[in-house]
Amino acid sequence: MPNLEHELYDVTIMGTGPAGLTASIYTCRANLKTVMFEGDLPGGQLTQTSEVENFPGFETGIEGFLLIDEMRKQAIRFGAEIHFSMIEHVDFSEAPYKVTLSDGTSYYTKTLIISSGASPRKLHIPGEQEFWGKGVSSCATCDAAFYRDQHVIVVGGGDSAMEEATFLTRFASKVTLVHRRDELRASKIMQQRALSNPKIEWKWSHSVAEVKGTEKDGVQKVTLVNLKDDSTYDYDVDGFFLAIGHIPNTSIFKDSSLKLDDEGYIVTAPDSTKTNIPGVFAVGDVQDKVFRQAITAAGTGCMGALEAEHFIAALEDAAE
Ligand code: NAP
Repeated sequence: MPNLEHELYDVTIMGTGPAGLTASIYTCRANLKTVMFEGDLPGGQLTQTSEVENFPGFETGIEGFLLIDEMRKQAIRFGAEIHFSMIEHVDFSEAPYKVTLSDGTSYYTKTLIISSGASPRKLHIPGEQEFWGKGVSSCATCDAAFYRDQHVIVVGGGDSAMEEATFLTRFASKVTLVHRRDELRASKIMQQRALSNPKIEWKWSHSVAEVKGTEKDGVQKVTLVNLKDDSTYDYDVDGFFLAIGHIPNTSIFKDSSLKLDDEGYIVTAPDSTKTNIPGVFAVGDVQDKVFRQAITAAGTGCMGALEAEHFIAALEDAAE
């Protein structure tokens, strides 16, 4: 990795999912000196899904990692500098902001675009990680079409679980909703929609202890636990959807002056990617708990880049 020590960048982008990569394509094309950091999961959540069929421009769909790879190559073509390193700390007390990396290197940046995404909350049970992308998913919008006429389960009792289960019934022959309590957290209207859907079967007061399958065929069974009597049994399924919430990747900002909401998402101004700190913008899933799509993340990435560009232009005007 080249030595960044004491360098001054126009733009730092934290995270290389669709939001961050789109932002870098725009900032590099605007001739802004841009550096990006990959973080924990280079390419973001899209690299964990199989085929992406709903990103415009690909008639027959595209593998998630290939879509990211194309975006990455496009960003590099315009001059983006991408490093496999973690941002450990950003000092917002004085502009330009001092960024410290995990290897102790520090440099300065005029603007920061945070695109560190969110991670689906997981159950941490055997088989969950092994079959991720091979029958285990956290995105029905992305993967439902692969389960035409098959049986899938959805875990969770919130709005996401209701929405995912209802959406999955358009394709699957049967959807089993597994919830750990006998009462839902979801809003009444979403509950009603799911409860009145004849294709949804309910497993109240149940949890999943294990996901089972084979390398060749992916998920085939789950082990369910009836929490009322602690009995366990195997249950045949073709797909397993987790809908137990997301965790925004904002832990490094927890004790900083950057404004986060109660769940840790970065708070942005209405119709904008601006945060409460001048020159700091948040794009993609790290500030979005509603849409969470690659295309909406890319859209906000573009917005963040344009806002960073305007911010730097205003700094330059003020300096003249
Ligand atoms: P959520 O409201 O936090 O619900 C998470 C669900 O997962 C809860 O039912 C919870 O069970 C369950 N859960 C959490 N950890 C679990 C574990 N370890 N094992 C088993 N179950 C577990 O999350 P969400 O449904 O993703 O919604 C997040 C936010 O987005 C909400 O504000 C929601 O209203 C919003 N949203 C809105 C829409 C919409 O309006 N179209 C769609 C989706 C989401 P308990 O109930 O027992 O705690």
